[in-house]
Amino acid sequence: MFTTVLRPALLAASRSPRVQRTVTASAATRKLVRRFVAGESEAQAVAAVAALRESGRFASIDYLGEDTTDIEQARATVSQYLSLLAALGELPGSADAVRPLEVSLKLSALGQSLPRDGHAIALEHAHKICTAAAAVGVWVTIDAEDHTTTDSTLAVVRALREDFPWVGTVLQAYLLRTEGDCRDFSGAGSRIRLCKGAYREPAEVAYQDRDEVDASYLRCLEILMRGDGYPMIATHDPVMLEAATGFLRAGRRTADRFEFQMLYGIRDDEQQRLVATGAHLRTYVPYGDQWYGYFMRRLAERPANLAFFLRALRPG
Ligand code: FAD
Repeated sequence: MFTTVLRPALLAASRSPRVQRTVTASAATRKLVRRFVAGESEAQAVAAVAALRESGRFASIDYLGEDTTDIEQARATVSQYLSLLAALGELPGSADAVRPLEVSLKLSALGQSLPRDGHAIALEHAHKICTAAAAVGVWVTIDAEDHTTTDSTLAVVRALREDFPWVGTVLQAYLLRTEGDCRDFSGAGSRIRLCKGAYREPAEVAYQDRDEVDASYLRCLEILMRGDGYPMIATHDPVMLEAATGFLRAGRRTADRFEFQMLYGIRDDEQQRLVATGAHLRTYVPYGDQWYGYFMRRLAERPANLAFFLRALRPG
């Protein structure tokens, strides 16, 4: 029922302006959002990053926003990132040469979905952000969005890597194409975040069955871990975490040649447990007031998240 009815409904609602107006108007929702989002302001995000670093974790910071259809809004997003990078540059030890801080970008927030020249505009904006990131020694990873953007996103990543070879990107195991993309991006210098995928995708391009997605994730993990790049294993799933840890135990990868990644507010105890084992773990820290799409995708991921949300909305 959750997978076949509620999950698709929540993912459809994540792109509905009407549902967005209702959900974001609720005070109870705004309180709950704080479980998954570090805050609305840059200062709150930077404070969350500092606290994570105190606990031995690395961080990737995402200024929330997506599907921008207004060039001014895309430019404003670039300004936010420039301001964030300046603030991150002030944190002591931010430019750690081994494992720097990172920002995550959604190209659709930078103009990729603009009707005219969206691809070129997103590339120009991302290039600007990478230039500022390089100046303060912070990494950039380009998030993966729905499958209609994958070709454009990977083309932008390839172009950025000509000037900034450390730029990373995300591959989604639920897409049928991803095993091939993992092979293409498993070479030296490549940084790939492997996740299952969070959007609603049709059967022509994506596995629909959870077991098939999991099997694909394990095949992709094997390709990346056997390759010469730097895999970023983004999951909360014990099976996937164990598969990656197996490479460590067998001596096929050392702890400094890959990292785990998890989302802010999810499995915090497991994040800390992994750090205590000596593994490298990066927490993805979203902030900003455009949290609606991100929040709805989190609700769609897990019945427990949705139940928590519905309980909080119940009067009395
Ligand atoms: P799921 O399949 O959701 O869950 C599998 C199992 O994990 C569960 O059965 C349970 O045992 C355990 N588990 C999961 N959550 C919890 C919890 N809260 N508490 C206890 N146990 C739990 N998606 C994109 O499409 N594009 C991106 O750019 C992107 N970036 C991401 C970055 C990071 C750092 C992470 C962690 C995820 C990202 N995602 C992205 C989201 C990703 O695609 C998945 O939707 C999300 O991670 C859920 O999948 P999962 O692998 O964690 O496990």
